[in-house]
Amino acid sequence: QNFIDLQNSDVNIHIIGVDSDLFFTAKENKETFKRLAQANGNVTYGEVHSLHGHDAFLIEFEQMERLLEPIFSTNGKSKQAKVLKFGGKSLANGEGLERVLDIISNKVKEGENIAVVLSARAKGTDQLEAILEKAANGENYYKDFEAFEKYQKHTFKNVNLSAEFKDLAKLLEGVSLLGDYSLKIKDQLLAFGELISAKLVTKLLIGKGIKAVMLDSRKLIKTDSNFGDASVNEALSKENVLRKFAKLEADEVPIITGFIASDEKGETTTLGRNGSNYSAALFANFLNAEELQNYTHVDGIYTANPDLVSDAKRISHLSYGEANELANFGATILHAKTIIPLLEKNIPLRILNTFNNDNEGTLISAKTEEGGIKSLSVIENVSLINVEGRGLLGKVGVDARIFSALQKSNISVSIISQGSSERGIGLVVNADQALEAKRALDREFESDYQSKDINMITVLDEVSVISIVGQDLSTFHRPYNSLIKNQIAPLLFNNTVSGKNVSLVLRKSDLNKALNVMHGQIFGISKKVNLVIFGHGNVGGTLIDQILKSTKTIQKRKGIDLNVFAVANSRKILLNKKGIPKNWKSAIEDKGIAYKVEDVIAYTKEHHLENLIIVDNTANSDFVAHYFEFVENGFDIVSSNKIANTLGFDYYQLLREELDKHQKQYLYETNVGAGLPLIDTIRLLHLSGENITGIKGVFSGSLSYIFNTFSESEEPFSNILRAAMKSGFTEPDPREDLSGNDVGRKLLILARELDLSNEFSDIHIENLIPEELRDGDVNHFLDNLDLVDAKFNEIKKNQKPGHVLRYVGDLHGNLQEEKGILDVKLVSVPKESALGQVKGSDSIIEIYTESYGENPLVIQGAGAGAAVTARGVFGDILRIAEKG
Ligand code: ASP
Ligand code: MG
Repeated sequence: QNFIDLQNSDVNIHIIGVDSDLFFTAKENKETFKRLAQANGNVTYGEVHSLHGHDAFLIEFEQMERLLEPIFSTNGKSKQAKVLKFGGKSLANGEGLERVLDIISNKVKEGENIAVVLSARAKGTDQLEAILEKAANGENYYKDFEAFEKYQKHTFKNVNLSAEFKDLAKLLEGVSLLGDYSLKIKDQLLAFGELISAKLVTKLLIGKGIKAVMLDSRKLIKTDSNFGDASVNEALSKENVLRKFAKLEADEVPIITGFIASDEKGETTTLGRNGSNYSAALFANFLNAEELQNYTHVDGIYTANPDLVSDAKRISHLSYGEANELANFGATILHAKTIIPLLEKNIPLRILNTFNNDNEGTLISAKTEEGGIKSLSVIENVSLINVEGRGLLGKVGVDARIFSALQKSNISVSIISQGSSERGIGLVVNADQALEAKRALDREFESDYQSKDINMITVLDEVSVISIVGQDLSTFHRPYNSLIKNQIAPLLFNNTVSGKNVSLVLRKSDLNKALNVMHGQIFGISKKVNLVIFGHGNVGGTLIDQILKSTKTIQKRKGIDLNVFAVANSRKILLNKKGIPKNWKSAIEDKGIAYKVEDVIAYTKEHHLENLIIVDNTANSDFVAHYFEFVENGFDIVSSNKIANTLGFDYYQLLREELDKHQKQYLYETNVGAGLPLIDTIRLLHLSGENITGIKGVFSGSLSYIFNTFSESEEPFSNILRAAMKSGFTEPDPREDLSGNDVGRKLLILARELDLSNEFSDIHIENLIPEELRDGDVNHFLDNLDLVDAKFNEIKKNQKPGHVLRYVGDLHGNLQEEKGILDVKLVSVPKESALGQVKGSDSIIEIYTESYGENPLVIQGAGAGAAVTARGVFGDILRIAEKG
C-alpha cells in the first residue's frame, strides 16, 4: 500500500510493502544492503525472498526505521543533520539578515550537514494580516502594501520577487472587492511571508557560492484542511521529506519555508502563528537530526522577561517537559507543539541568539535539572469578566452555559475561577474579545437578570496574568507573601492540579512590581530592598556611608540588595531609583530638589519600587506625622527618632493598629541605649511571658559621662560640662540633657514595650537645671554656671563615703497593672554596685524579672555616639529586610 522509493548516491532501496509492523524491503544489491545493516548495529535482516524479481528482506518496522533514516537523512554525508531555524527578527534587513547568511555559510564551510527552516522576515506575517484586514474592510491598503513590498525587496537587485507580489496583489484585490475573506484565502496570503523569505535567502546564499535550494514546504508537509491551524499528517509528510532529501545532492543546502503546508487538495494551509518552530521540529524529527538550533533575537529562555525584570537570568538547561510548560504559558519563543516531535526522537533544541555569537543559549533536552526549573511568564493584555449572582448557588449548568455562549462567539477563556459558594465566577479572556464576551454573556443570561439570579456581569480591563511555571502550592506562600507585603493583592489566583503551575491575575499597573518582587523571592537572586533616608546629620550620614560600604557583602552573604534610592534633609531630596552615589553629600546640594513627602511616595509608585523602608534619622517632631502615610503606602519604618513613641498613648496605639492593618514593621532599637540590644531583649522577654518587675539604669550617655567624671575628680561641675560639650557628648544646648526629658522619654518607651499605658506627664523627672536658668538662651545659662557648681558641690558633699552620683531612670511599681511608676532622678549609689562601676559615657540597664530574681539581667556598653547608633539603625533595617 505504502510505496516509498528512496534513493541516493549510495543505495537504491525500494520499500515495497508494509504489513502491520513488518516492512518488506527489496534491494537490487544484496551485498550493499547487508553492509548497511551491519553498519547500523542491531539491525538484523531476515530471510531473503524473491519478490518481483528482486531480493527482498523481511525486517521489523522499528529496525527499518533505524536502518534507513540515518542513511537518508545524512544524505550520503558522514554527519547527522542539524536543523537551523531563523525567526522573523533574525531575518530583518541589515544586521540580522547578514548574520543569518554568515551563520549558514560558516556551517557549510565547516562541513556541517544542515537544513534551514525560515519564518517570514521581520514582522511580515503581522503586516500581511493587517493589510488583509484593511482590504476586507474596504479601506485603502495600497500604502501599507507598498511599504511591505519595499521592505521585502529592499536593495536586493538580483532577486526577482515580482511573481510573488503579483500574486499577492491579486489576492488582495479579490478580498477588497468581496469585502471579506475565508481562512483559506488568509493562509494563501500569509504564506507569501515565508515564500518570499526562503526565496530571497536562497538567492543570496547562491550569490555567496553556497549551493542553496529552496524547498517549498507545501509540497512536503501535508495537513488537514483546518486553515489557520492545520493538523499535520506526520506519516505522509515524513515520507515526502525523506524522499525529497534523498534526492538532494550531497553539497546542496535546503532552505525551507516554515509555517506553511498544504492539505489533500493541495490548498495552502498554515500551522498556526509562530508555527515555523513547529515546522522545524517536524523536519528535525523526520531527518532524525542531531539538534534543532532555533535562532532568535534573544539569548535564550529567561526566568522572566528581561525587559520587565532586570534580574532575570538565562536558563541554561531545560527539560522538554519544562519547556512545554513554558510554551503553554506565554513564553512566545516556542510554538506549543514544537516540543512533541523533538521529544519523540530525543532531539535537543537549542535556543540561540542570531545577534550574539558567543552565547550558549538555552538547551532543551530530555535531562531534567534537579529540583526543576522555575520561570515567570506573563500574558499582558487580558480582561477579567466577573459573573456575579445570588442565584448561582447550587444552580446546575451555569458554567456550561457560560462556556457555550463564549464558544459560539469563538472566545477562548484562559483562566476560570469559581468560589465554592458559587456566588461569582471569574473568567479571563483576551482584552480585544472582552466586550464581545460580555455581550455574549448578557444575551445568554438575559432572563436570569430578570429573575435576579444574576446581579451583574462586569468587565475589568487592564489586567495581566503572571504564571509561575514550576511552582506548586506547597511553597507558594513565599512569593504570595512578598506580594502582599508590597501591597499587591491579586484579583484571582489559580493552580493546575497536576503539574506545577500557579497563575495570578492582577491589575496591569501592578504587573512590573509584582514580577520583580516574586522573581526576587523565587530565585533568591537578591531581594531588592529600597530605602529612603530622612536626615543625614551625625547618625544619618554615618548610616548612609555604612550602607554604601557594605552593600556588596550583604548581597553576597544575605542575598539582600540594599538600595538607597533617596536621601533627604528638611529642604531637599536626592532621588535615584538605581541608588544614590558615594558622593551623595555634594550630590544632594547640587542635584537635590525641593520636595513634599507625597512626592517620595509617588516616585516609588512610578518606578515600581518594592520592599520599601523609610528611615527617620531626624529629631524632628513634625516629621513623625507622616508615618501613617508611609505605612499606608507600603513602607516599613526604621527610626532613631524617639518622638513617635513618646507622643500621647492614643497616637502610640493608633500607629500600631495601622502597622498591623498593613502588616508593616516599625523598629527603633536605637531609641534607648543607641546600638545596645535593649528593646529587642525586653520585647522578647515580655513576649515569652517572662514577668518583668523593674528596669533601672543610666540611659543617657552624656549624663553618664558627666557624672562618672564628676564623681571621680576634684574639678568643678562646670568644667566637666564644658569639656563634654566640646567633645560633642551633649546636645548643643546641654540643658536638653540636664532637663532629664530625654531620659524620661527613653524610660517611657521601655514602659510602653511592656504594654504599660503611661503618658509622658506621668513621669517624675528631677530636672537638674537650677530653676532660675531654665528659661533664656544657652549663653545666659553658660554665663551663670557657678549656680550649677554650687548645687552639685552640695550634693556631692552630702553623700555617704564610697558613694558616687548617677542620673538614672527607674521603672517600678506593679508592672502588671495599667501603669507603672517612672522616676528619673539623681541618685547616690555605692561605688562597687553595678550602677556605680560604670565608666566613660557607657549606658547600663538592669532588667529585673521574676526568673532572674535578685540578680538582674544587665546590658552595658556605649549608649551614645554616631557610629554605634548608625549600626543599630542598620541592624533594624536588616531585620526588616530579611523578613518575608
Ligand atoms: N511567520 C509566522 C508568524 O509570524 C510563523 C513564524 O514566524 O513562526 O506567525
Ligand atoms: Mg514570527
